[in-house]
Amino acid sequence: MKSMMSDNNAFSRRSFLTGAATLGAVAAATGLAGCAPTTMAETGGDAKAEDDGQAEAAVEHNPVETVECDVVVCGSGTGGMCAAVRAAELGGAVVMLEKKNAVGGTSNFAESMTGVGTKMQKELGVEIDVKEMFDAVFNYHHSAAVGPVLHSFIDNSGATVDWLVDNGCHFLTVMTFFGRFYTCHLSGDASTGTSMLNGEAVIQPMLAHAEELGVDIRLETPMTDLATEGDKVVGVYATNAKGEEILVKARGVILATGGYANNSELFEEFTLRSYDRLRVAGMDGRDGDGIIAARALGASLHHPETLNPSGECVIDSGSWNDNLNQIFSWQQNLRVNEEGERFWNEGNNQEFAAHVNALYTQNASYSIIDADLLNTLATETVFYSMPMYDVNIGSPLAGCMEAIDEGLSQGLIVKADTIEELAEKLELDPAALKATVDRYNAMCENGEDEDYGKAADYLFPVKTAPFYAAATQPIIYATNGGIKVNKNLQVMAGTHTIEGLYAIGNDAGAIYGADYDVQLMPGSCQAWAATGGRMAAEHILG
Ligand SMILES: Cc1cc2nc3c(=O)[nH]c(=O)nc-3n(C[C@H](O)[C@H](O)[C@H](O)COP(=O)(O)OP(=O)(O)OC[C@H]3O[C@@H](n4cnc5c(N)ncnc54)[C@H](O)[C@@H]3O)c2cc1C
Repeated sequence: MKSMMSDNNAFSRRSFLTGAATLGAVAAATGLAGCAPTTMAETGGDAKAEDDGQAEAAVEHNPVETVECDVVVCGSGTGGMCAAVRAAELGGAVVMLEKKNAVGGTSNFAESMTGVGTKMQKELGVEIDVKEMFDAVFNYHHSAAVGPVLHSFIDNSGATVDWLVDNGCHFLTVMTFFGRFYTCHLSGDASTGTSMLNGEAVIQPMLAHAEELGVDIRLETPMTDLATEGDKVVGVYATNAKGEEILVKARGVILATGGYANNSELFEEFTLRSYDRLRVAGMDGRDGDGIIAARALGASLHHPETLNPSGECVIDSGSWNDNLNQIFSWQQNLRVNEEGERFWNEGNNQEFAAHVNALYTQNASYSIIDADLLNTLATETVFYSMPMYDVNIGSPLAGCMEAIDEGLSQGLIVKADTIEELAEKLELDPAALKATVDRYNAMCENGEDEDYGKAADYLFPVKTAPFYAAATQPIIYATNGGIKVNKNLQVMAGTHTIEGLYAIGNDAGAIYGADYDVQLMPGSCQAWAATGGRMAAEHILG
C-alpha cells in the first residue's frame, strides 16, 4: 500500500535560499531593486554553509517594499498570534507574516493547553506542586530539557492561560491524563459545556484582538530569509501575495513557523527515521522555514528529533479520527508486525509517544479484529474515548459497520474467514500469524498477557470469523524540537544569543528532551507556543 505522505514536499536549505534568489533576480530584472541589508551567509557568518559548499547559494535581495516596525512575527499559529497580540498590547508596531491564506496553522486543530496556577485551577481547587511537577517532567525528558527554560515555562504558563481568558479565549475545564497533574485546560464553551478546537477557542478571539490593536497581518506572505547587519538580525525578507520580495525591518524577529513536520529531508536528517512510513496530521506548510533560516546563521539546535506523536492510522485512509481509524487505530486490538509477531502492549495507546515509537520500531504494522469485538464496538461500547469527535466509552461507535463496508470497498482493509487466509491477504506468513493468534487467544482466555502485560480489560480474543485487518502507520501531529532558545526565547548560537532573533512554539527547542510529555503536561505544545509568544514579545519591548 502507498504511504499517505509520499507526496510530501522536500524543502532543503538550498532550495529555500535558491527560491529567494530567484525572486531577487526577478525583482532586479524588472527594475525594482532596492537597497537592503545582507544575510549572515553573505557576511561569512555561516561557516558550516561554506564548509559544505552551500555558501554559493548566498542571495542577493531586491525588495520592492521596506516596512519598518518594532516586531515582525513569522507565522500565525498560537505562538505567532500570542506574540503579535502581546507586542501590540505593549504598544509595539507589529507585522505578522503568514505563509498560508488563513491564520492559525496547525494550532487550529489543537484542543487544549497546559497551565499551572491558573484562576480556573484555583476555582476548581486544583493545586499543583511545581517542584514535584518539574522533577517529573525533567526526569521524563531524561534531564535533557534545558532546566531554567523548562522552569520559566512552567512558572509562566498559568499567567498565559489567564491572559488568554482575559482576551476572550475559551477553556471548559481542567483535566489530566493518567491522573497525575491537572494542568490540561480543555478548550470549550464553559456556559454550554461544549468542547471546541483551538481555532475557535483561541485563534479567532486572538485574531479579533490583533485586528483591534492594529497588527499588520499579511497572508500568503512567507518569510524567506533573515536580514542582518553585522551579527544582528534586523528583519526578514518575505514574498508577498503578488510574488514580490519585501523587507520587514524590526527590533525583534520572532520565528513561529511551526517546525518541520512537512519537510521530509529535515525529518529524516533529525529523526533518522523513514518519512515514507509516517503520516502527518495538521496543516501543511510546516516546512522548517524558521529552523532553516536560523540554522543558516549558525543557530544551535536542541533535540530537533523530538516529536508530538499521536498514534496510528490506517494507511491511505481519510482523516486520522474517522470511523475506520476509530476501529483499527484507536482501539486496543491485536497488532502484529511484518513477521506476524506481536510487538507491544496495545493497551498503552494513550501514551502517544510509546504508541508511535512501538510502531516505528517495526517495518510494518497490522491491526486485527474479529467479528465479536467489532460487534461490541458497533452495538455496545468503544474502549477509547475521543469526546471532541463524539466517541465515548460506554457508547457504541455510530457508523461502525458502514466504515467497515467502505474500508473493504476501498481496499483499505481485508476480510477473511480464517487466520491463514487473512495472513495471505496481508502477505504475511500464515503459519507465523496463526501461531501468534493462538498464543494471544490462550492468554486472553487466561486473562493474563504474559508477553507484554496488556490489561485484562483489553484482552479481546481473535477467534470469531470473519476476521478483519488493516495495515497501519505511525502518525504525528507536529515536530517539537528545534532552534535552541534561552528563557527569553532568544535564539542561541553556542554560548551566545543571536541579537534580535527569537524562536517560539514548534520552531523552538528547550523544554523537550524526549517526545511530547502528554502524561505529565497534556497541552504543553500549545502552552509552549503561547507562553513563548507572550514572553518573547515582552523581552523585545520590555
Ligand atoms: C489534530 C491535532 C491536535 C492537536 N492537539 C493538541 C492539543 O490538544 N494540545 C497541544 O498542546 N497541542 C496539540 N497539537 C499540537 C499543536 O497544534 C502544535 O504543537 C502547535 O500548532 C504549535 O503551534 P505553533 O504556533 O508553533 O505552530 P503552528 O500552529 O503550526 O503555526 C505555524 C504557522 O506558521 C506558518 N508558516 C510556516 N512557514 C512560514 C513562513 N516561512 N512564513 C510565515 N509563516 C509561515 C504556517 O502556515 C502556520 O500557520 C495538536 C496537533 C494536531 C495536528
